Amino acid sequence: MTTISNALQAVQRRVVAATAACGRAPGSVQLLAVSKTFGPDAIRAAYHAGQRLFGESYVQEALPKMEALRDLAIEWHFIGPIQSNKTHSIAAHFAWAHSVDREKIARRLSDQRPTGMGPLSVCLQVNVSGEASKQGVAPGNALALGKVIAELPGLRLRGLMAIPAPSDDVAHQRTQFRQLRELCDEFAGAGLGLDTLSMGMSADLESAIAEGANIVRVGSAIFGVRDKNVGHEVVF
Ligand SMILES: *Cc1c(COP(=O)(O)O)cnc(C)c1O
Repeated sequence: MTTISNALQAVQRRVVAATAACGRAPGSVQLLAVSKTFGPDAIRAAYHAGQRLFGESYVQEALPKMEALRDLAIEWHFIGPIQSNKTHSIAAHFAWAHSVDREKIARRLSDQRPTGMGPLSVCLQVNVSGEASKQGVAPGNALALGKVIAELPGLRLRGLMAIPAPSDDVAHQRTQFRQLRELCDEFAGAGLGLDTLSMGMSADLESAIAEGANIVRVGSAIFGVRDKNVGHEVVF
């Protein structure tokens, strides 16, 4: 068995254990394998070990990998910052975008979604930790933006996503994830039903699942430590 297959199984066990520990239904948490900086061979190994959902953060890096893996039935999720000049590629190639945080970007994605592909599933990225991250809509502005996105024909608003400030303190991790869940409850109260909380990564997926995550985005625990010198310009 390959290292990736072993690591993937270990992460799957963590997800199953965390889901059971808080009394949630088996299978209610999906694992998104974050493959940024890793090449097609690593993704293929995870696929052959049963993984189907993969997340990428850089469009230029993702497109050639997607092309090299065309033969696999992968569901691709875009999770990185979205620039205006990348919306066309994201709308044309991905099933999901987790990182929508501006109306202008949402409108471009909707307008550019090819007819026949069905709406692009989107999550609104929310900046739950304040100044620690510049990405994400402020919690107080999220509902207004959500209402705009819900009306766009090329998009399907699925949920909320957050990347909280990293913390070793489980109580602090949970407080931040809880904020996203409570915001999701506010959306429901306003008539915007969401089915997705995209939160939790390699280091904190247990806390995220305890607070209601249904997609955890896990990279290094599956593929290993990322090479900081590899990024958007990855060559393989
Ligand atoms: C890289 C990345 C992840 C995965 O992080 P790990 O700590 O490697 O699990 C998750 N979400 C987003 C948005 C990322 O950019």
